[in-house]
Amino acid sequence: MHRLGLGEFEISILSDGTYPLDGGAFFGVIPKVMWSRKVQPDERNYVAAGLNSLLVRTGRENVLIETGMGNKLSERMIKFYGQPAKLLDAFSNAGVSPDDIDVVINTHLHFDHCGWNTTRDRSGNIVPTFPRAKYYAPQGEWQYARQPSERDSISYISENYDPLVASGQMTLLQGGEEIAPGISVRTFPGHTAHMQAVVVQSGGKTACYISDLIPTTAHIDLTWGMGFDLYPLQTVESKKQYYARSIPENWLTVFTHDPSVPWAHVERDNAGKLVAPAV
Ligand SMILES: [Zn+2]
Repeated sequence: MHRLGLGEFEISILSDGTYPLDGGAFFGVIPKVMWSRKVQPDERNYVAAGLNSLLVRTGRENVLIETGMGNKLSERMIKFYGQPAKLLDAFSNAGVSPDDIDVVINTHLHFDHCGWNTTRDRSGNIVPTFPRAKYYAPQGEWQYARQPSERDSISYISENYDPLVASGQMTLLQGGEEIAPGISVRTFPGHTAHMQAVVVQSGGKTACYISDLIPTTAHIDLTWGMGFDLYPLQTVESKKQYYARSIPENWLTVFTHDPSVPWAHVERDNAGKLVAPAV
């Protein structure tokens, strides 16, 4: 289990499991001869992607960043992605109950980032998985999700967020807000137009849940974006802006889809190449 102290806070990774993604889609325009040196595909060209949520215990509040893929996928989606649905097991292994969560933050609303926001009760009604929590998500993302493009409409499942917006349990964010002391959001366009990273700061230390801007340690290079990115040139620009602060200030970067290395300090080696040495 990945857990460490960050100033006065304690942060831990809670995983919803891993799922298969097409290696070509995961690495966009990067040739397979290059990406397969970092990640081994299976015989169908699939690679394993993680579903890492970050739990921040500030001492006053328990904040959960991202809620994985959940357990409400359609049969058709399950054929492609499986449905590991391990997040609640990770909660009990960590000695945390869904009732303990005060705040849930979604960086964007793709199905593999907000799936456990809600679940179905015995009668089939959609209910919040974290009943006491205040939920937050980017407003622009929610507006886009109401009428997504043909290209990415499969990624948006209304049951993950619309019931929470309708009941007032989810607050929509502009970007830049401080949600709890030391926990704020910042918009990094590229993967989607309105995706927000979550910056966690305590005692002079900073961690950043960078979400799909840098999904794994294999994606740290500026040009190694995903085929899923809607605005690939903005991904490059956003990564530059992120590193301009994260590297000199030694931020801990949290990788949403890395199945084995959920966080690292991204830095430049002597040759100027970006590297993510193990913590
Ligand atoms: Zn996404």
